[in-house]
This record gives sequence, C-alpha cells and structure tokens, in this order.
Amino acid sequence: AGDLEAALDLIRDVPDFPEPGVLFRDLTPVLSDAKALGALVYGVAAACPAADVVAGIEARGFLLAAPVAYGCGVGMVPVRKAGKLPAVAAKVSYALEYGTAELEIAVGAIQPGQRVAVIDDVLATGGTAAAACELVEQAGGVVAGVVVVLEIAALNGRAELEGYQVTALRTV
Ligand code: 5GP
Repeated sequence: AGDLEAALDLIRDVPDFPEPGVLFRDLTPVLSDAKALGALVYGVAAACPAADVVAGIEARGFLLAAPVAYGCGVGMVPVRKAGKLPAVAAKVSYALEYGTAELEIAVGAIQPGQRVAVIDDVLATGGTAAAACELVEQAGGVVAGVVVVLEIAALNGRAELEGYQVTALRTV
C-alpha cells in the first residue's frame, strides 16, 4: 500500500495542457519507473471487480488494462476511438467540450453476458467512462465496475456513472 501511494505521488501536474487553464495529470513518470509501474498495475488489479475480461479505454487505459488482465488471468478488450477497427460490433457517441467523439468495440471481443471491468487512467467529467460502459452493454457485456487511477472530484464524473461501481486509486 505504501508502494502504491509512493507510485501515485509520481503523477505530475502539468498546468495549461492541452489548453490554457487546464491542469493535466500526467502518469508518464509512474509508468517509466519500474517499481512504481509494478505497484500501479498491482493496485489497479487489486481494485478490479471480479470480471471475465478487462476493457481498456484508448489510449492510456490500454497501458493498464493489458497488464492487469494478464495478471488476473483474463482477456483484454480495447475500447477504441472511431475508425480504427476493421469490424465494429458497437459504437457510442458522446459529447466533448467542443463537438462529439465516438468509441467502438470490435466484433467478437465480448461474449454475451460476459462481465467486463472498465479501466482508464483518469476520471474527469465521466463522459468517456460512461460511453465505454454503454458500449460494453451494447456489445452484450455486463459492466462489473469501473476502475481509474485518478479521479478529479471537482468534475463530478461519478454522477455520469450512477449505478456502476466506481473505484479510484486516488481522488484529488
Ligand atoms: P472525461 O471524459 O472523464 O472528461 O475525461 C476522461 C478521459 O480523458 C480519459 O480517457 C482520460 O485519459 C482523459 N483525461 C482527461 N483529463 C485528463 C488528465 O488530466 N490527465 C490524463 N492523463 N488524462 C485525462
């Protein structure tokens, strides 16, 4: 647990990225440190609800979902931004600050009734995670829960995820 806290302490706050006034939480220093990476992957896996498969949200969710799935002995499903998959089973649009974005899941990635743990690095407004949950359900899965490394409480992302079990390793 001490190792996990030390790992999370490596998260770097970058002011004015990607635009003025936004404080970006950068997990890169956690990933590049061997001990911290291990503690982080272990921490996410420990927080993960029982699931048949782990879904990671593009792109930083991939970095965690794959090692967590491997560690838990289950498969990994990429939740992708639109236009990357050759065969799309389900697609969900969601609102961004400016415009909309779409997430897609591949044909055959989720079997009907499979329990899916959804993983991402940061929960901000919750729009992305909510879209990923809707996508999992559209593809025939059941959301077992959502796990993020960092939750930005002021943006109230949890309100978008009502009815889902949401776990954050750290809340700021
Ligand atoms: P939301 O949809 O909750 O507003 O934004 C969450 C998505 O945007 C996640 O996929 C996350 O990777 C990305 N994101 C938003 N803010 C940050 C941030 O400060 N740091 C990082 N690393 N990702 C962020």
